[in-house]
Amino acid sequence: MSEVAVVSGRGAGRWQRGHPWIFKSDLIDAPAPVPGIVTVRERNGRVLGQALWSPLSEIALRLLDRNPDVRIDAAWWERKLRVALDRRDGVDRHATAYRLVHGEGDGLPSLVVDRYARSLVVQFMSAGLEACRGDIVDALERVHAPTGILARNDVALRRREGLSETVELLRGEVPRTIEVEEHGVRYLAAPWDGQKTGAFLDQRENRAAIGHVSCGRALDCFAYHGSFAIHLARGAREVIALDSSAPALERAQENATLNGFAHVVPVVADAFEWLREAERNKEKFDTIALDPPAFAKSKASLPAAIRGYKEVNLRAMRILASGGHLFTASCSFHLGKAQFLDMLQDAAADSGRRLALRAIYGQPVDHPEVLGIPETGYIKGAMLEALD
Ligand code: SAH
Repeated sequence: MSEVAVVSGRGAGRWQRGHPWIFKSDLIDAPAPVPGIVTVRERNGRVLGQALWSPLSEIALRLLDRNPDVRIDAAWWERKLRVALDRRDGVDRHATAYRLVHGEGDGLPSLVVDRYARSLVVQFMSAGLEACRGDIVDALERVHAPTGILARNDVALRRREGLSETVELLRGEVPRTIEVEEHGVRYLAAPWDGQKTGAFLDQRENRAAIGHVSCGRALDCFAYHGSFAIHLARGAREVIALDSSAPALERAQENATLNGFAHVVPVVADAFEWLREAERNKEKFDTIALDPPAFAKSKASLPAAIRGYKEVNLRAMRILASGGHLFTASCSFHLGKAQFLDMLQDAAADSGRRLALRAIYGQPVDHPEVLGIPETGYIKGAMLEALD
């Protein structure tokens, strides 16, 4: 018999509306303070299901299964992993690196699994989930038969769960760099020490989208290891890959070379200063990708973040050649879709340019966003075209 958590009507209501989290403040009776799987009940005795239990976290319970009787063992995780894999049917036709499990977006709260060729990189982002690690890793081996599984648990969020930040090899071997393919280009992911789990998989489809219209002189602003730059390079005669990190741009050069491109030019600079200077010098680019880091790390920093986004977008609009395309994005969870579009409208109004909104982008299929679970969605993107 598993431990029981008793929750308030408000807590139960969250599950009824489709959100998998119940907060500490909605716990009436807490289970023993040992992370793991617990049965969840309302005060009137009605059983709601089974959840991951994190004794130290504000997010106390994360829904796993509404059936209170099902055994949540390796076989249960295996069934869930197979469902998640089926949802990605077809992604492997054009990519060897993509997300296999997007946490709450796949009904597997606080679990991230990314595939890089034959290796898996996982993140266990709650204490309750960490307690199930053995079963999950067994299930991953059975479903995906990887050559290695690496845990990139160096995530600050884990501290709120009372967990340590570590990078740990769980099974087999995982190389320092892994060559992967997406939409006809190749790049090196860095699972051990790269950003996120080794690359920004969430912009994969958007990189292809701007790659399709790339021509003339192109700019990849906030390039990291150049994954937009190599898509831009297919159609452009010159690509400037701009980033403040010199080591990131060294990898961008390697990635350009890997694809046989000699026309990707790395520029180590602060994007704000560089864009201002480019505008002053009346430089023009036919194609621009603008993929800044999350400027809004918290709700409180949102106004300053919006000013930052507006500034880089405004300047990018001004250096966009007539008829040129600008792909622009934000990965700040705290900046909503409507606010993102408002910011672009504001920047366009001040830019002195006429711009068409050609397409709006969101999360790719391997990062499913669930309505009613805002935390599953954070990528916003837009394709703009200069009309004058
Ligand atoms: N477009 C990339 C991901 C970009 S991540 C991809 O698809 O793979 C954001 C990048 O912005 C990081 O590489 C970081 O080094 C860079 N960066 C952060 N602040 C910057 C600034 N002020 N000027 C230039 N680059 C910056």
